[in-house]
Amino acid sequence: MSLLGNKVALVTGAGTGIGRASALAFAAAGARVVVSDIDSGGGKATVEAILDAGGEASFQQADVSDSAQVQALVAYAVQTYGGLHCAHNNAGVLGASAKLVDVEEADFARVIAINLTAVFSCMKHEIPAMLASGGGAIVNTASYSGLVAVPFAAAYVASKHGVVGLTKAAAVEYGRKGVRVNAVCPGTTRTQMNIERAESSPVMAKAMTDVTPMRRLAEPTEIADSVVWLCSDAASFVNGHALPVDGGAVAQ
Ligand code: NAD
Repeated sequence: MSLLGNKVALVTGAGTGIGRASALAFAAAGARVVVSDIDSGGGKATVEAILDAGGEASFQQADVSDSAQVQALVAYAVQTYGGLHCAHNNAGVLGASAKLVDVEEADFARVIAINLTAVFSCMKHEIPAMLASGGGAIVNTASYSGLVAVPFAAAYVASKHGVVGLTKAAAVEYGRKGVRVNAVCPGTTRTQMNIERAESSPVMAKAMTDVTPMRRLAEPTEIADSVVWLCSDAASFVNGHALPVDGGAVAQ
């Protein structure tokens, strides 16, 4: 039996980057995967990649900041595959780079809605589906910015600290009922946004790698492997944990 054989997994923000790597890793571990994103082109490309690799997946579009769409997404997973066992609540945005006093209120609200309130909505609908499926495991994508602050990203830092708190709140309520809830805290990862930043100047590229003792970016697959492990029975007593996968950045 593969690591997640017969399990049903849901990944948000799976149209590219960390979420796409996670969806591929869930499928490689034997799960049937509901790939979701606001961007249908990216999401469908992720499904194609899973099918090409011999896995099982389907796409359901959802804007995670709309709770009705999140409810419909979870219902789709249950109706399509008969239950829900694993969820990676991963969709997120960075927001504008600015000093706190220059942050527009609308941008602050947008970042909180997508990065934090949406994680609440996802868990609100996923947990009952998991309880009805005999238990499950949730991983929320926080960030190393959920553990320490970085400058010029107040809304992002606040949202990701909130994700860590929300993760702990859910873990202490539902662990005894068979749903484990953890967070993954990636360091700077080689996704499209960061590739463009790194290519913008050698100074920027050096600054991005200098923040970690390992002097390189994370690969999306390195985050994905941690997510799959946290959802597997190999992590059966890990609950309420915020796991840095950051090459040691927050250990400094
Ligand atoms: P990305 O921008 O490459 O991908 C994010 C995905 O989320 C996109 O496919 C996008 O369409 C989707 N998305 C955005 N808003 C959405 C919404 N409202 N509803 C549904 N989907 C939506 O980002 P990434 O680098 O892969 O990051 C994924 C997660 O990891 C985010 O939560 C991010 O904050 C977090 N993170 C990333 C890094 C990094 O360095 N890349 C570091 C720490 C944490």
